Amino acid sequence: MLTISTQFDSGAIEVVSLADPQDIQLNIRAHQGIHGAAEFAQWFHFRLQGAAGVPLKLRFLNAAQCAYPKGWEGYRVVASYDRQLWFRIDTQFDGQVMTATITPDTNSIYFAYFEPYSYERHLDLLGSAAESEHVQSEFLGYTIDGRDMNLLHITDASSTLQNKKNIWLIARQHPGETMAEWFVEGFLERLLDVDDPVSRVLLAKCVFHVVPNMNPDGSVRGNLRTNAAGANLNREWQTPTMERSPEVFLVRQKMLETGVDLCLDAHGDEGLPYNFVAGSEGNPGYTDKIEQLENAFKASWLATSPDFQTEQGYGKTAKGTANQTLATNWIAQQFGCLAFTIEMPFKDNATLPDAGVGWSGERSKKLGEGVLLPILSVINSL
Ligand code: ZN
Repeated sequence: MLTISTQFDSGAIEVVSLADPQDIQLNIRAHQGIHGAAEFAQWFHFRLQGAAGVPLKLRFLNAAQCAYPKGWEGYRVVASYDRQLWFRIDTQFDGQVMTATITPDTNSIYFAYFEPYSYERHLDLLGSAAESEHVQSEFLGYTIDGRDMNLLHITDASSTLQNKKNIWLIARQHPGETMAEWFVEGFLERLLDVDDPVSRVLLAKCVFHVVPNMNPDGSVRGNLRTNAAGANLNREWQTPTMERSPEVFLVRQKMLETGVDLCLDAHGDEGLPYNFVAGSEGNPGYTDKIEQLENAFKASWLATSPDFQTEQGYGKTAKGTANQTLATNWIAQQFGCLAFTIEMPFKDNATLPDAGVGWSGERSKKLGEGVLLPILSVINSL
């Protein structure tokens, strides 16, 4: 007998029928919050038991009604036996239904939209980072579900340089974009590597402010886009409130205290199979200097990471038309600074594909380690 379960961190799926292993019928579940289901559905994560050696066909019946149907084109479901190695399985999308096939090796297999990043791992990341002498962990307040909002301040306190640059990195405003926290994990591991010359220079010249998970409630609830109040946090930056978007309210308040010289906001993109950045060219306050900094940052990343590219992306926003509710736009406008939204793929990086795992947690970590180089390239010009 086949069973499916979801009662774990970020678990999410609706079972329509398990009667036939060749026609397992599923619906991707709408986001869950304190006000009930929200509009978006895209994230899934579930465990299937009892199918060792049995050819399975998993049919996601409502794929075309999800938030980003284009996200299923060329996409492959990730699966894992041990919840450590997540690999891609054969997946087709016919424009209506997404169908994934596998014959499991063992009686227990997990499936997900992307390699998960659990709340326990998030707490482990905060804990291990805080062991560094360069890190001060700050509690900002509680989320709607009562989880901690934590911010890491990171600098070499023995450096007596004046006017250190304030570099912000935030991730997972959209909680199902788990690659964003994998990116932060790689970033922190390298930044806190005492033998890394790039990190040593950056820690002497900068204070880093890092929020590894902007949306812990949505993460645990298994939402792709929203927090527990149903808010899309990357549309809350102009007028956040403690009732609807405490995560943004608390972090924004801290940014206003520290100032911002550079901000990176890490995301995943459902549709485009590339790594890319989006800048603030649509802001009324966009200047030639910011454009030059953007170009220098991108040129450095291009030169140092074959996983980064600038040909594919969102396209330019006309000056004066930028949506000021987005973090990158609000921050760049408020502080007159360089700010980027970093997008990584849910699918694979088409310029450097990996047939086994596609884009993955480990590859996101490598990209996060590598972003220290473009930061270094602009640090004296910020
Ligand atoms: Zn996003």
